[in-house]
Amino acid sequence: MLPFWLSSCVPADKEKTGVREADSEKKIHIVTLSFDDGFKKSSIRTAEIYEKYNLSACINVLATGHLKSFVGPTESLKQGPKGDFGLWNELKQRGHEIMPHGYKHANKAKMPLREAKDLITRCLDYFVEHLKGFEPKEAIFNFPYNASTPELESWLATKVKAFRTRGNPINPLPHKGQVKLTCRGFGPESCEQFVEDRIEELLAGDSGWLICCAHGLDGQGWGPMRSSFLKKLLPRLLAIESVRILPTGRALSELSFSRT
Ligand SMILES: [Zn+2]
Repeated sequence: MLPFWLSSCVPADKEKTGVREADSEKKIHIVTLSFDDGFKKSSIRTAEIYEKYNLSACINVLATGHLKSFVGPTESLKQGPKGDFGLWNELKQRGHEIMPHGYKHANKAKMPLREAKDLITRCLDYFVEHLKGFEPKEAIFNFPYNASTPELESWLATKVKAFRTRGNPINPLPHKGQVKLTCRGFGPESCEQFVEDRIEELLAGDSGWLICCAHGLDGQGWGPMRSSFLKKLLPRLLAIESVRILPTGRALSELSFSRT
């Protein structure tokens, strides 16, 4: 049986009234699966799956995850090697969005403000140096553990285009001045049902922008999803007239979604 959110999303019957539905009345549902941590194998596979549907993946990576000196602070971060900036440059060139997820995956809500600022600055500097075309003012900083503080958020809003932290995963449509993006993830077991439920919630409501925090594929990372799940999910979503599948940065740069 089709899930509710798919079976209920039949395109509006425009012939019935003979009047094309005004653009302003159309619902828009943006879906962003925001993949964190930069596992090499999962990131390559994620990019390949998105490419199959001519889509850009949203991949958030650590500045130092690929270095021998990197120590994964959690068990799920130790589940396989991370990609390096050779891979990140290649994926960016292929049209995917590669965004910062911290210098070393530290919880910035649990350290002095000055230390947290220093780590973010070092992260952004590393990206400027190693990721071709990276501009902090165009970047979305994705807080490790989705953990931030109001002080850090105020400061970071002056350094990057936007940041992603913990909160309601259904955001307003992209609009000017939107610097705080909120998301949720699910783990440590499979995140698939969580993702299905959030999509159902998004599609049942008015226009909105769902940002789900995901990690690796096929058992890799915290709250993984199967690549077979992702391969079926993307075309299911693309078949729904109101849905756009976009990485966060691109969604923010396409402000035409906003009616305000
Ligand atoms: Zn992470």
